[in-house]
Amino acid sequence: STDSEQTTNVAKIKVVVRKRPLNKKELAKKEEDIISINPTMNSLTVHEAKLKVDLTEYDERHGFTFDAVMAENVSNDDIYSVTVEPIVPIIFQRTKATCFAYGQTGSGKTYTMQPLPLRASQDIFSLMQGTYRNQGFQLFVSFFEIYGGKVFDLLNERKKLFIREDGKQQVCIVGLQEHRVYNVETIKDLIVKGNSTRSTGTTGANEESSRSHAILQLAIKRPVDGNESKPPRMVGKLSFIDLAGSERGADTTDNDKQTRMEGAEINKSLLALKECIRALDNDQGHIPFRGSKLTEVLRDSFVGDSRTVMIACISPNTGSCEHTLNTLRYADRVK
Ligand code: ADP
Ligand code: MG
Repeated sequence: STDSEQTTNVAKIKVVVRKRPLNKKELAKKEEDIISINPTMNSLTVHEAKLKVDLTEYDERHGFTFDAVMAENVSNDDIYSVTVEPIVPIIFQRTKATCFAYGQTGSGKTYTMQPLPLRASQDIFSLMQGTYRNQGFQLFVSFFEIYGGKVFDLLNERKKLFIREDGKQQVCIVGLQEHRVYNVETIKDLIVKGNSTRSTGTTGANEESSRSHAILQLAIKRPVDGNESKPPRMVGKLSFIDLAGSERGADTTDNDKQTRMEGAEINKSLLALKECIRALDNDQGHIPFRGSKLTEVLRDSFVGDSRTVMIACISPNTGSCEHTLNTLRYADRVK
């Protein structure tokens, strides 16, 4: 197939649901698994003691289907095959692609997202050594977080960064370090380094990281006119986003002022993200990037020929029912 066929064959927006298994704590509390999945129908049902919400019916009424629904026994390798693998080749053809993990804290976002950039970079290096051999492509990695509406470089001692727009629909995060990488091992080291730099406050590491969006970007570049002495030009970009815990957006009535402000910022960014993805699907001219720092930073990944994959992570236990329904409704709206 030609390059353009290869690009157009990949869905513009894909929404995948992933359920994690019950954990030891939930099993010890004799919590029930309230999610049943029909993988061949790409549908699932949420059972609750009083309320039974059948998302298959919901689906029919609202004309929606998830592109895939992954049960608790599905491996990270299978997640990769369904979500990111199809979009890797097209970033060599000037496409920008973004993969998000959405869900409440503890639903498996980080577990799901962490292996994906490594698997993607393996495939990128294979393409650079195979199909795209001797074509001068270079791979760069950057890793930053958005916390309380501010941007911090996770590969440069959490340096605070600022966004500049150049008026040509390009965003520039001034001073963001981009590391050229030649092998998967180096990327692994950078990810470990970045994760250890993620926000950790007095209340504990997991608590704090659930309030920030972590963004890892793999950029494919190529020297202009084959001239290695000039700065290379961007070809395509693949972004992996481990979003803040979706329940944090509801922290807007907390007693602590800082927590309230962070909650409001998270709420704003998750709403803006949904609106931007929906605008993409409708091919509307106006995309509401300015709604939040998150969407502003992702602006150049939403314009032009772009691809979006949303992985909605859900917990199976009774106690998470409300959050699970919220996550599924969000995913439904995106699709
Ligand atoms: P989040 O990033 O959404 O807060 P985590 O990715 O940290 O959630 O997952 C919470 C816990 O559940 C972790 O201990 C993780 O290892 C475990 N977990 C998550 N998803 C799965 C899965 N699909 N299979 C097995 N364990 C999982
Ligand atoms: Mg996490």
